[in-house]
Amino acid sequence: MSGGTVDRVVVVGNGIAGLTAADTLREAGFDGELTIVGDEPHPAYSRPALSKALLLDGDDMTSHELPPTGHGAKELLGVRATGLDLDRRLVTLDDGAALPYDRLVLATGSRARRLSDLPEETTLRGLDDALSLRGRLASRPSVVVVGGGPLGMEIASGCLAAGCRVTLVSQGPPLILQLGPYLAGVFVKAALDRGLTIVETEAARFERRAGDARVVLDDGTVLEAELLLSSVGDVPNTEWLADTGLVAKGAAVPVDSRGLVRPDVAAVGDLAAFPTPHGLRRIPLWSSAIEQAKVAARALLHGDDAPPLRFQPYFWTEQFGLSLKAVGHLPPPGEPTYLDGGPGGGSALMRWSYGDGTGVAVALNHRIPIPRLRRMSQAAT
Ligand SMILES: Cc1cc2nc3c(=O)[nH]c(=O)nc-3n(C[C@H](O)[C@H](O)[C@H](O)COP(=O)(O)OP(=O)(O)OC[C@H]3O[C@@H](n4cnc5c(N)ncnc54)[C@H](O)[C@@H]3O)c2cc1C
Repeated sequence: MSGGTVDRVVVVGNGIAGLTAADTLREAGFDGELTIVGDEPHPAYSRPALSKALLLDGDDMTSHELPPTGHGAKELLGVRATGLDLDRRLVTLDDGAALPYDRLVLATGSRARRLSDLPEETTLRGLDDALSLRGRLASRPSVVVVGGGPLGMEIASGCLAAGCRVTLVSQGPPLILQLGPYLAGVFVKAALDRGLTIVETEAARFERRAGDARVVLDDGTVLEAELLLSSVGDVPNTEWLADTGLVAKGAAVPVDSRGLVRPDVAAVGDLAAFPTPHGLRRIPLWSSAIEQAKVAARALLHGDDAPPLRFQPYFWTEQFGLSLKAVGHLPPPGEPTYLDGGPGGGSALMRWSYGDGTGVAVALNHRIPIPRLRRMSQAAT
């Protein structure tokens, strides 16, 4: 093991990145004292399920649950880390305790970015948010969703499926930045067919007038609804690291190709900016958090002998009756080659080539196993 004995590892953040780091530490042979600190009171759960099955499923309230953990860590749940002393190797907690460590994993993720301080601006990030939203949808309120990215569209889809009248406000066509024009067109058509109203604008804001909260567009148009939601990106939870010098522009923690910020500290998941072909980037996706955590946990124990991150993006979404799985760097430009099915069909396999042996492979309503989809994206020439 690099840099002295490793008897105590502390993981701060009990999301998928923290959980995967803890599991991987054990797999890699660490049998010392492992402690996980998480400010949510719940055991780790699947965040992607919150805007998909959990919003939709009738009585099934288990889609977000993850298998029981096997890492045997001491879990301090409902406890927030408030500070870090890198020299003394101490994490301070909001209950006044200080946790010493030999190795530390920073995995505090991110939170929903907000457009206002109004309590009526509802966001979906955590399990409590999802359960509260689910409860509110039962009375079928009218809904405005601000944000035309994948999460905004999933939320709009869930609200429509619950029987609500839904308007989605988007800067430009929904999903175009994330999925490119071709796939965005497929999803927008499905959304319109199901009754979604889409309003494009340069900017939207939340404001209160005469006691009521509403959404106002840049041309002055006012949108009123019983439920106002926003889904406009995320902000890393790094305030507790403010005095450490580890936090860079955009509130992210930059890491090396093994997820380390220094030999005894790793940063993984939504808060970390790691080297990509396009420079240091945060890629706040589920598979990204898992891959980063697996690499960084081994690097904390074995330093440069551990393999670096070889990240191949994987993204999925479910909305408006469509399920998409995509491997490769999105958004793909132009039109795809169809490998199975075709435009307008029920299910399809598509491929875009970047001409350098890489590309994007997409399964739409198709049950292809992910490893095959991965191979398909790399075979694209
Ligand atoms: C509704 C929703 C749907 C999504 N759908 C998809 C999808 O379909 N596909 C996909 O690839 N990705 C999706 N994502 C993104 C994916 O869920 C995230 O990239 C992933 O969960 C990040 O994991 P993480 O462990 O880094 O962060 P998080 O899951 O945010 O976990 C961090 C944990 O640390 C806690 N924490 C924060 N600060 C402190 C502190 N100071 N002390 C202690 N604990 C702290 C947080 O409360 C949280 O529990 C979705 C995200 C959301 C919100």
